[in-house]
Amino acid sequence: MSKASIIINRTQELLRSLWYKGEEVCLLCGGQDGPICPTCIKEYFHPELARCQACGKLIARESTYCRDCLEHRGPQALTRVTAWGHYAGGWRDFIHRIKYQAQPRLVQKIAHLLAEWAVTQLPPPDSIVAVPMHPSRLAERGFNQAEMISSVLRWELGIPLLNGLERVLPTRSQAELSRQERLHNLTGAFKVRDQKNFSGHIIWLVDDVTTTGATLEACAQALRAVEVGEIYGLCLAAGIEKNLVSAGD
Ligand SMILES: [Zn+2]
Ligand SMILES: [Zn+2]
Repeated sequence: MSKASIIINRTQELLRSLWYKGEEVCLLCGGQDGPICPTCIKEYFHPELARCQACGKLIARESTYCRDCLEHRGPQALTRVTAWGHYAGGWRDFIHRIKYQAQPRLVQKIAHLLAEWAVTQLPPPDSIVAVPMHPSRLAERGFNQAEMISSVLRWELGIPLLNGLERVLPTRSQAELSRQERLHNLTGAFKVRDQKNFSGHIIWLVDDVTTTGATLEACAQALRAVEVGEIYGLCLAAGIEKNLVSAGD
């Protein structure tokens, strides 16, 4: 091999390693092996835990429902809910960067991993519905993160988006409210336009975060009213059952 071709090969190798290094930085901790490194997967995603089928909370592997939902304090109108990770630490920070620091394109970087996970959790839907934002909030933020997440799932999996679920009341931010207030705050907040498009559909209802499940529940009630077939809630993050917190936080 000539000296020139060795130099060219080394340059290509260097460029390739820089390129892949850039691509493979963990989006959560900045370490190696991105887009989400094995340490962060273990820390925030807990593939070893189950998800409460009613509210999506991370629960012990052998359980089906969390304590709240066993006591009928969780959502009732959804077929099932699942959440990818635990809403804590680096994963919460990542979601905050999407939402509050206006970096919605970050969702594209996790699109493939999210889609791969989602198809192992839920039956295939006819369509994807994003939890809508009220127009006044949308004007303020400039984008709806639930729509961003729905869009990447649509492109990754080829499942159509279904528009027509609307937020008709500008409710207070859920984050400031208690569980009871959250449910009350959302009464009548969602309506379905073009009802015939929804009838009989199997739907993935997508949001960024679920805590009490009140938002998903309010959407699901509006969807049930127009005879949607099955409603599966799908979120990036949820809480974790209290006695399991030390395992992940
Ligand atoms: Zn990491
Ligand atoms: Zn639950």
